[in-house]
Amino acid sequence: MADGRFAPSPTGTLHLGNLRTALLAWLFARSAGGRFLLRFEDLDQGAVRDAHYASQRRDLAALGLDWDAEVRQSADRRPYAVAVDRLVAEGRTYPCYCSRREVLEAASAPHGAMPEGAYPGTCRDLTAGERAAREASGRRPALRLRAGAARVRVHDRLHGEVVGVVDDLVLRRADGTPAYNLAVVVDDARQGIDEVVRGDDLLPSTPRQSYLAAVLGLAAPGYAHVPLVLGLDGARLAQRHGAVTLADRAARGESAADVLGLLATSFGLAAAGEAVDPRILLDRFDPHRLPRDPWVMEAGA
Ligand code: GLU
Repeated sequence: MADGRFAPSPTGTLHLGNLRTALLAWLFARSAGGRFLLRFEDLDQGAVRDAHYASQRRDLAALGLDWDAEVRQSADRRPYAVAVDRLVAEGRTYPCYCSRREVLEAASAPHGAMPEGAYPGTCRDLTAGERAAREASGRRPALRLRAGAARVRVHDRLHGEVVGVVDDLVLRRADGTPAYNLAVVVDDARQGIDEVVRGDDLLPSTPRQSYLAAVLGLAAPGYAHVPLVLGLDGARLAQRHGAVTLADRAARGESAADVLGLLATSFGLAAAGEAVDPRILLDRFDPHRLPRDPWVMEAGA
């Protein structure tokens, strides 16, 4: 068994890159006899739109994917607060008053083996007086984990051993929203996810998540970070690349089944133009034979 999940943010229409990742996540889980969960990552309500829950669900179903349960992170924020409170009680956190701009400026300075965009620890050792001065200026702090630049090794099914140095990541944003890394770690554990299958743009966050799971006393899942879909210009697939959503494709006369076939050809599970369905792909799926390079797609207008 290898329970899995697909965890989109309902902030837009899924494009072929998202759909390809969802299909792979489904294939990994179902081919191992696992359950499959659809988890909407919607804690940041500012960017979420009601219509996108329905459109994302509809597009996944149109490809023929199914899931055993659907959850929304926004439905119950208590598990995230419990995890944060525990880390606070253990003295593993500190308030951070840096603005986004200050973090970006500080993070762009070189600092050894830290990951890209790593927080250099500006607020880590503020005195009580320095904190009070920042509070008095009206700044609301984010809460960061004191990670001690831990070196963490994770195993990824496609990338092998990945070693990363963990920075003092944000646990709770200044507006009180639980941060992405915290929410993912708490959810993957409590939802019993055995293997996280997602785009390899998230690989650099994986040592952070593995470390966070360890300090929370949670088992870290296995990982398989799959290659992204790129447009012809080499950039990550986006709306500007042309016909990238199921609706765009339908407007050109292509059905969801046609798109499923196209995605299947991109990882060698179908011949060009062959009619397939998810069951056929399940029979053919072999995680060891997945292409390791991004799929460069001619989306067309
Ligand atoms: N919600 C994230 C995204 O849409 C994915 C998080 C994950 O799979 O861990 O990029």
